[in-house]
Amino acid sequence: SDARLSDYEKISVLGHGNGGTVYKVRHRRSAQPLALKLFAAGDPSAAREAEILKLAADAPHVVRLHAVIPSASAGEAPAALALELMPGGSLAGLLRRLGRPMAERPIAAVARQALLGLAALHALRVVHRDLKPSNLLVGAGGEVKIADFGAGKVLRRRLDPCASYVGTAAYMSPERFDPEAYSGDYDPYAADVWSLGVAILELYLGHFPLLPEGQRPDWAALMCAICFGEAPEPPAAASEEFRDFVARCLEKKAGQRASVAELLEHPFVAGRDAAGAQQALAALVAEAEQGDL
Ligand code: ATP
Ligand code: MG
Repeated sequence: SDARLSDYEKISVLGHGNGGTVYKVRHRRSAQPLALKLFAAGDPSAAREAEILKLAADAPHVVRLHAVIPSASAGEAPAALALELMPGGSLAGLLRRLGRPMAERPIAAVARQALLGLAALHALRVVHRDLKPSNLLVGAGGEVKIADFGAGKVLRRRLDPCASYVGTAAYMSPERFDPEAYSGDYDPYAADVWSLGVAILELYLGHFPLLPEGQRPDWAALMCAICFGEAPEPPAAASEEFRDFVARCLEKKAGQRASVAELLEHPFVAGRDAAGAQQALAALVAEAEQGDL
């Protein structure tokens, strides 16, 4: 007995993406609130996302898949995915609703949990390839989970090249932009670390770090900034730990970039009270909710 769209009652819209729309829904039989990601007909990213979420069903800090809703015509890509509802929404949404940048403590909670998620995914040979604040979801208790595997890939061999232009160019690492300039030094997992570094710095600054505030992120400007510019860094006012953590993520040479395992040992995430940092993030979720009322 396959899941059907009619098993769910629409409550509200949670977000729009490239692929389609995500709704807050209620599963009629269980009354459980869930998120329903609806894809455009035949969207190939639907099957890819379903495959990866099944593979990562036991991975910590990865959003849970509840059901795959097939499309009406057999053999076509799934029509929708029913996902665990993350009540805090995405970090991009949280930043917008707060209207100000985030402090280091809640950012450390984001970094630590995203790294744990990446470690589990990479152990399964899954690369995400589209990490960014809108694809990191938050729970009411400050839990962080990785979502949106529409650009993800399961690597068959460790060094399977996957430099194709999938994902959002803005968060793409230099070696993915220009693989030829970096040949010999290609590590597909390191690209996710770069993207995480950009996302983390964005939370601290309150805006996308690689371009001047307000500049439209067109392809040419991004390519210039990512491949020819200096890696962006936190201002001098930031702590030494945070500055070093970001620098280790945003190492332009993939071979010199810190690994996920190394970053999990970094003082910015390992050297502090993890529960306290998560509480600080939960407080921001509560504050944003107050602002919504
Ligand atoms: P894009 O192509 O823009 O990255 P997408 O179409 O692949 O987006 P998602 O990133 O999966 O779609 O979801 C879009 C938005 O919907 C998210 O940024 C988030 O705000 C919201 N959203 C998605 N899944 C959930 C969920 N499980 N719980 C709460 N909100 C969610
Ligand atoms: Mg997304």
